[in-house]
Amino acid sequence: MPLKNRREFLQDTLTISAAALAPVSIAQAATTTEFYRISTEETFGIAEVYDATAALIANNPSDEIGLTLPPKSSELAMQLFDLGEARIAAMDAGRIDKQLLSLWSPGVQIFEATQGTELAALTNDTLSAAVKSHADRFAGLTSIAPQDPKAAALEIERGMTTLGLHGVLINSYTKGEYLDEQKFWPIFEAAQAHDAAIYIHPRMPSPAMYDPFADYQMNGAMWGFHMDASLHAVRLMLSGVFDEFPNLTIVLGHMGEGIPFWLKRLDTIASRYELPSIKRKPSEYFLDNFVITTSAMFWDPILELSHKVLGPDRILFGVDYPFVPSTAGTKWLDDAPLSDIDKQKIYSENAQRIFHL
Ligand code: MN
Repeated sequence: MPLKNRREFLQDTLTISAAALAPVSIAQAATTTEFYRISTEETFGIAEVYDATAALIANNPSDEIGLTLPPKSSELAMQLFDLGEARIAAMDAGRIDKQLLSLWSPGVQIFEATQGTELAALTNDTLSAAVKSHADRFAGLTSIAPQDPKAAALEIERGMTTLGLHGVLINSYTKGEYLDEQKFWPIFEAAQAHDAAIYIHPRMPSPAMYDPFADYQMNGAMWGFHMDASLHAVRLMLSGVFDEFPNLTIVLGHMGEGIPFWLKRLDTIASRYELPSIKRKPSEYFLDNFVITTSAMFWDPILELSHKVLGPDRILFGVDYPFVPSTAGTKWLDDAPLSDIDKQKIYSENAQRIFHL
């Protein structure tokens, strides 16, 4: 089904019943196809950002809560710092052809504006060199420091032109603020101008809502990451950003950070209010301006839900290396209950289109 028709079809189903959705999955026996695989939420670090983060943690800042680092000599840190042979060997073991690399969260957004901007440029220079020396295996996202929105916009331009990178990475909020604030909109203007998709990667909940997440290890990847990233996405959907920048693409990991599950309710409740900031239904922005990735969410029921809600053209493969093994991601998607045509879209064709790979 063409994308536009699919959206209209889905708008109908959002007001009728999920049971009216036509089956779009074709269950298959174990696959024999060898796919071309691009994984799109793959993490790297650089020593300079690590050291600056360690220095910040040592100062115990009140506006950056919950920051931790593994030891610099740990296996995890070594995997993150590697942009060469060890990473490629892990990709080969997982049958990943190409990784789209992004800076380890929270990256440069925890620093003051000048330091954050300088570290973003250093990160992007390092990433660009790695991508250029392994162009068949690596691609990368431009890190920016939204603390200085104009400098961030210029860095997007540099990343997408001089550095040969493929989109933008933002680790959710910056100094407690989310990108729907109009002062950040030069970032969207630059992203739209360069057709740079913005990947909103999670970080721990912002200081204003951190405390209830502080118990039971909820602050991180178990729960807090996804509550914060989904909050960020909904703020954008309700802010009018996509009326101002209709060609903007936002990427969410973790199968859409829960948004596909909630989409009908967002429309239903939003329709009860006067929301002068938006011209369309929340779901229309989600279906036109967002794509999602499978990072660390290797679970058939949520893949099938997402496939029904977004269709096969707006789901991208992601692993979350090195936090999640690549082998787990490929084994799962190879055997998932979708057609080989849709698997190839998810494995690479959608990423090639969204990130110009
Ligand atoms: Mn991740």
